[in-house]
Amino acid sequence: MRSLRAQISLAIMLVVLFTVGVISFLSNLVVNRAFESYMAKQQRTKAESIAATLGGQYDSRTRAWNIEYIHGVGMYALLDGYIVKVLDPSGHTVWDAENHDMSMCMQIMHEIARRMEARRPKAGGGFVSHEYTLSQGDQAVGSVSIRYYGPYFLSENDFRFLDTLNAVLISVGAVSLLFSLAVGTVLGRRIARPIAKTADIAKQIARGNYAIRFEGQTKTKELDDLVLAINHLAGALFEQEQLRKQLAIDVAHELRTPLTTLGMHLEAMIEGVWEPTPERLTGCYEEIERLTGLIADLERLTAIESDALKLHKAPVNLLDMAQTVASHFEMEIKKKGLTVSIAGDPVHVFADRDRISQVVTNLLSNAVKYTRENGNIRIAVKDAGANGVMEVEDDGIGIPRRELALIFERFYRTDKSRNRETGGAGIGLAIVKSIVTAHGGTVEAQSRLERGSRFTVSLPKR
Ligand code: ADP
Repeated sequence: MRSLRAQISLAIMLVVLFTVGVISFLSNLVVNRAFESYMAKQQRTKAESIAATLGGQYDSRTRAWNIEYIHGVGMYALLDGYIVKVLDPSGHTVWDAENHDMSMCMQIMHEIARRMEARRPKAGGGFVSHEYTLSQGDQAVGSVSIRYYGPYFLSENDFRFLDTLNAVLISVGAVSLLFSLAVGTVLGRRIARPIAKTADIAKQIARGNYAIRFEGQTKTKELDDLVLAINHLAGALFEQEQLRKQLAIDVAHELRTPLTTLGMHLEAMIEGVWEPTPERLTGCYEEIERLTGLIADLERLTAIESDALKLHKAPVNLLDMAQTVASHFEMEIKKKGLTVSIAGDPVHVFADRDRISQVVTNLLSNAVKYTRENGNIRIAVKDAGANGVMEVEDDGIGIPRRELALIFERFYRTDKSRNRETGGAGIGLAIVKSIVTAHGGTVEAQSRLERGSRFTVSLPKR
């Protein structure tokens, strides 16, 4: 497995290598081709211009050739690689480079041929002869044959020029390659470093170090997102752990007191200090019942808190729900002589029926528990635009103002209800809050001591 840094560096290098290679190859090809065809054209033009210059060297008045000048032009052309032979109209040689200096012609032609065969063996070149008529006005005054290496030939200087050009292209390629190596390395390190650091942090989180955070920014949007997600993860895990610890502490605390009492009572009866009367046994049994209830509540709460997202939502008629739940409390209501009124609009909210039934049950159960005999309970369902609202109001014992904010906490019971036999474990409202929050709704409590309480639940309709 290769490191990210090495992979990025390698990828960048390969791309640049390929690009530089293709550009060098193409430019080399194009430059050489263009230069060769330019030379071929140049050489044809040169031969024509030699012919034109020679044509002007015939004096039609004296009917003589300016041999000296022709000699000059011919020798000059020879040095450039053109072998000139001038003939008069009757075919007699006026001037011939080969006649003049055979060895020099041989040497120059041999050199050109050798150079071209060595450097351009595929060009398929060879010596070609071109004939031009020399004329003055309309009159032909002779002809010239010009021989040179075709379709083109390059001098030592031309080759040097091409070599320099190729060398420049190659060095540009080499410099780009080095540059890409440097850029690739820097870029690779810059991308890889925060990823490696994030991976390290994730490992630490996995080991249980939830307090760790990635500090600073990475200069890359996606990496910043990753870092943010990891930091959030650490935060969420930290919170979860705190909750778990707190729950364990709360549960231990809640269970210890009743179990100690129960243990002491049973011990006293076993040791014969206490007579096991039916009343005392019933007391113990009730304590066990309460503990069983508490454990059931706890199970419900953890189920809701851990599956907060698994809601099976469907339209729920809040008014119908209130009536159904109230019917379950018929016995208690009758026993305490309470008056319960249910009124309002048949509002539908989009919610998990069983969970909402639990909410209404808990609120109504509290209202029944904390209302004196012959008290009144009022349930009102209202349509509030985007939300359906249910109010559960009683004229019971009420909640002190300073405790109002705490009653939704797990295991919280007001001092008043603690002393009462009726009080539960203080989990009912925590369950209500969890369910309502999971639905994206809100729950609020208003209360006045000794006057009564009102709980308002608001749930979204869609
Ligand atoms: P519990 O099981 O003790 O009723 P809850 O979480 O349902 O636990 O309620 C927490 C506390 O809030 C209760 O112990 C009680 O002191 C207070 N409370 C809840 N509802 C009412 C109410 N309708 N009237 C007065 N006090 C209430």
